[in-house]
Amino acid sequence: MSKMDNLRAMREAKYAEAQKRSAAAPARLKAPVAPPATKKVEERAAEVPAADADDLCGHRNMSGRTCTREKGHAAKSHRYS
Ligand SMILES: [Zn+2]
Repeated sequence: MSKMDNLRAMREAKYAEAQKRSAAAPARLKAPVAPPATKKVEERAAEVPAADADDLCGHRNMSGRTCTREKGHAAKSHRYS
């Protein structure tokens, strides 16, 4: 019985700590960083499709063409243009 109580107390403490952490960590710290980085990659991919091969997905289709989307693109399909 007391063991169960201990477990529950531990879980509650962990939960409270996680709540405190997520409340303490300002969302604005992370928000401005993500959108510009994403935009940059998209812009680069649009402007120079084949020049920066390191940043490209590089997936090859059946006819040997290489995907020109950015590396790890969110789109499910590859683009061979
Ligand atoms: Zn691809």
